[in-house]
Amino acid sequence: MSQEKAHGERRYRIATIDGDGIGPEVCQSTVAVLREACGSSLLDFEMHEGGAGRYTRTGEVLPRSTEDACRAADAILHGAAGLPGVTYADGTEVGNDLHLMLRSRLDLYANVRPIKLYPGVNGPLKNWSPGQIDYVIVRENTEGLYASRGAGVNLRGEVVTDSLVMTRKGVERVARFSFALSRQRRGARRDGKHRLTVCDKANILRSYAFFRAVTTEVAGDFPDVELDYAYADAITVHMLRKPDFYDVIVAENMFGDIISDLGAGTIGGLGMAPSGELGDRHGLFQGAHGSAPDIAGQDAANPFATILSGVMMLQWLAQTHGDDRLHKAADRVESAVTRVLEAGAWLPRDIGGTARCSEVTQAVCRALK
Ligand code: ATP
Repeated sequence: MSQEKAHGERRYRIATIDGDGIGPEVCQSTVAVLREACGSSLLDFEMHEGGAGRYTRTGEVLPRSTEDACRAADAILHGAAGLPGVTYADGTEVGNDLHLMLRSRLDLYANVRPIKLYPGVNGPLKNWSPGQIDYVIVRENTEGLYASRGAGVNLRGEVVTDSLVMTRKGVERVARFSFALSRQRRGARRDGKHRLTVCDKANILRSYAFFRAVTTEVAGDFPDVELDYAYADAITVHMLRKPDFYDVIVAENMFGDIISDLGAGTIGGLGMAPSGELGDRHGLFQGAHGSAPDIAGQDAANPFATILSGVMMLQWLAQTHGDDRLHKAADRVESAVTRVLEAGAWLPRDIGGTARCSEVTQAVCRALK
């Protein structure tokens, strides 16, 4: 039986969580685009609640039913979560717990954040054109400094600490994932070399020296991928001055969070930056941005980050299940996005246009027809 035929009847369950702020707008935009691209016979979107809004109503940021649905689904699609006023007693935001809990409970250890400049997007790096900026940041997603969330020590309001956590298992697996990802790609734009850059502060802290040492050990299994090192402060300059040098960058959780926002800035902003959070069994896909409460409910959000996260979801499902229908759908959506951006008539406000979120969605759907 051909693969196409074997998968002819297969449908995929997508646990879908709108979340807060612009979350519902960008998530529903992506559902509309994926439905247009895949027809009615491939994906089943199941809507579930979660986030800061849900917490204010029921006291649960990640309801049990939502977690169970995410566990049972083939993939998870999410808008964004978090509202500025909704905080715990220690001052930290509640909404982030939606994806932080899913990251740890579903063991989504590799947060893949492509930094790709699309045609028609006027990025701030004026000397670089589309095709020259195309690399991926892999943010370790379950350890590092953020692993201490909720567990730091506040001593009498005078001394406060959060610990940076690293394990051999955690570093090894994200390093292995990143080398393997580099192998699948076509290499750095500058020279075509498969390259993994380790981003750390190995010169300052033992934890980062460990991150570098373990990744270097793993490199022995990937002799075809060039190993490169960069300090987290210095790489912020390199990413502006030689973005074509990079292929895959792997970083500890907080550094990965920070440098991926910088990377997003180089390709048009947070509204253009997708992400896929992957483990060995589960995958969660959402834009790299937060819930942007300042523009929520105004139909003003840029949905491209979430739509491109939807493309990553289709690619991941295609690879996981060997289903070529999903590969084709992913290619069609990315090509439709590229054509809409290139044409320039329906650009969202954050990248210089005037189109509303709903108008951008309709334009992508028309390009798919
Ligand atoms: P988090 O820490 O949860 O990632 P954040 O505090 O970094 O969130 P965001 O919610 O990502 O903040 O938003 C930062 C700013 O970027 C917003 O105020 C908004 O103006 C802009 N922004 C983010 N995402 C989008 C988008 N999809 N479309 C348009 N503007 C956006």
